[in-house]
Amino acid sequence: MDLNLSPEDRAFRDQARAWFQRNVPRAELKTLEERRAWHRTMYDAGYVGMGWPTEYGGRGATPMQQAIAADEMARANAPAPINGLGVGFIGPTIIIHGTPEQKQRYLRKILTAEEMWCQLYSEPNSGSDLASLRTRAEDRGDHFLVNGQKIWTSGGHIADWGILLARSDPGVAKHKGISCFLFDMRQPGVEVRPLKQITGSSEFNEVFMTNARAEKRDLIGRLGQGWEIAQTTLGFERGGNSMARVTRYASAFDRLVDAAKKIERGGKPLLEDPVVRAKLGNVYAEMEVQRYAALRVLSALQKGASPGAASSITKLSYSEFEKRYYELCLEILGPYGQVTDGGLEETTLDVDSSSGVRSSWAYAFLWARAGTIYSGSSEIQKNVIGERVLGLPKEIRADRVAKA
Ligand SMILES: Cc1cc2nc3c(=O)[nH]c(=O)nc-3n(C[C@H](O)[C@H](O)[C@H](O)COP(=O)(O)OP(=O)(O)OC[C@H]3O[C@@H](n4cnc5c(N)ncnc54)[C@H](O)[C@@H]3O)c2cc1C
Repeated sequence: MDLNLSPEDRAFRDQARAWFQRNVPRAELKTLEERRAWHRTMYDAGYVGMGWPTEYGGRGATPMQQAIAADEMARANAPAPINGLGVGFIGPTIIIHGTPEQKQRYLRKILTAEEMWCQLYSEPNSGSDLASLRTRAEDRGDHFLVNGQKIWTSGGHIADWGILLARSDPGVAKHKGISCFLFDMRQPGVEVRPLKQITGSSEFNEVFMTNARAEKRDLIGRLGQGWEIAQTTLGFERGGNSMARVTRYASAFDRLVDAAKKIERGGKPLLEDPVVRAKLGNVYAEMEVQRYAALRVLSALQKGASPGAASSITKLSYSEFEKRYYELCLEILGPYGQVTDGGLEETTLDVDSSSGVRSSWAYAFLWARAGTIYSGSSEIQKNVIGERVLGLPKEIRADRVAKA
């Protein structure tokens, strides 16, 4: 693994650094329209959908360039672009499985965020066991009639379109009877109800579909190919951008150390407490492990290799680390870590979470739980690692354990 940037990559980094320094909005972006305008500025400068092929409006950038740009964004504390699900994995799924007409109709508006997208996969009784989903899509000749309920639909309340998994053939094995559609969220028969989260915000929704329509032209791939298409989407989703995450941890760490210098307990700055110092040292070491793990993934991607099932190792590792990390932050900050609205300037944390809000330590701590659930919970990642990376048997039979 070569950890040095090539001269071209260094030049690209300098250019990206200067651009973000010049252009990052000074004031907090409060409305969707303000965030859309910032997204558009980034898109026009070539920093949205960088990995997409140029023929579909992307930049055809290398994994290294994408990581550099994400890193510079995190360093400049720039608000995240919007339409993350669309740009991150729904668009790339359409690029792989879509028809020329679908690509022509949908891709550019995903990149520019003129149309917002959501993912309609999970149902109340089908999360980890997604293949058991029950939403139905019945063939009615010129269209499919859709009935059912989805849940945990991130951004469903602002979405114009969704990528939908529905059962089109209840008579075959559960993985085989699922199809994938591009689904109009603004039609009659679609009701979106926001859900209040532990963080206090409402990014999730329940979506009820009653005699709604999916057009024939909006079927992606073949009828019954939905499971395979879902795996494409989830592969993009689990990959994530590990380098940018590490940069965010590092910037939070600097703020934590600053806060520990200023907050006094027992008449002394917290940073002079040997227990606090030892804990900070431990978490710093863990953070470096995350950095090298991220570099290893990047190096594999740069050589054209796909991490495949091994992406589960990265996802399990960073999401569990993130929980431990923010737990420690709150432990060190004590009551200051509970502040959710304003408070001492040095104890608030400007993190761009998926919602794009500027948040507090408490928000980051609560949000860290989500990473161990979405795109497959930690237990599911362990199953994948056990079965597909280590080649362990799917079930351990009690009689064999007894003999061993
Ligand atoms: C922040 C966030 C955003 C999300 N956004 C979306 C979205 O936009 N669209 C969408 O469709 N979904 C979304 N989801 C839903 C997500 O995909 C599901 O929550 C996830 O797949 C888990 O499903 P579940 O919540 O039904 O839990 P369950 O599957 O009911 O799991 C409950 C518990 O049982 C464990 N478990 C389940 N099966 C096994 C097993 N075989 N072996 C061991 N343990 C097991 C799980 O690990 C978990 O601890 C989002 C979730 C989060 C947290």
